[in-house]
Amino acid sequence: MPAQNADPARPVAKRLTVLSGPSGVGKSTVVAHLREADPQVWLSVSVTTRRPRPGECDGVQYHFVSDEEFDRLIAENELLEWAQFAGNRYGTPRGPVVERLDAGTPVLLEIELQGARQVRDSMSDALHVFLAPPSWEELVRRLTGRGTESEEVIQRRLEVAKVELAAEKEFDTTLVNTSVQGVCDELLALMTAPKV
Ligand code: ADP
Ligand code: 5GP
Repeated sequence: MPAQNADPARPVAKRLTVLSGPSGVGKSTVVAHLREADPQVWLSVSVTTRRPRPGECDGVQYHFVSDEEFDRLIAENELLEWAQFAGNRYGTPRGPVVERLDAGTPVLLEIELQGARQVRDSMSDALHVFLAPPSWEELVRRLTGRGTESEEVIQRRLEVAKVELAAEKEFDTTLVNTSVQGVCDELLALMTAPKV
């Protein structure tokens, strides 16, 4: 199916969108799909102290940094938000986001709940989208089936997932990730709709 915003002449809103949801729900899959579907949307690349998974490249999925470098980024106020998640730290570099928004590019952040709350406090007109699994059983299946984490890390992420699912009402809207293509289409429509 063609992307809804494939026409480069179509005007897009100058909007910051935050996509959040429990680990394993399919955020990275949706975002990777969206990147291909609409080059007008700019995806922020976060910094993290987590080790790369097989296939992940520095500067593509994340900027992989040391604890010392992460400390420096916090100290120099270079992060728009940051959080500790399941034993690692993650943060959004501020400069590139501000630059893209100033240029009128729709910007997407794929971040966890604590970071989403910080963005709500600092950038009041951001659109907050919650990505939900079709069911708890399917979330467990996806997280386990991905095969990238140890059993202990999976359990830790599932504990955090319960807290994240309970926060769904804080978000402006929820998309259920039954079909990646369907979610991408809905997300693009939200991101590029004229602001009200
Ligand atoms: P997250 O980034 O939210 O942690 P991932 O994008 O890594 O999640 O997805 C977790 C697993 O679920 C991956 O194996 C991915 O292929 C699978 N997945 C994602 N979306 C769907 C979907 N709509 N239907 C079935 N499997 C999916
Ligand atoms: P993962 O280790 O699975 O790539 O990511 C773990 C969690 O960290 C996911 O919920 C992801 O959305 C979140 N995350 C990724 N980048 C950032 C970021 O820059 N800030 C925050 N707060 N969370 C992030």
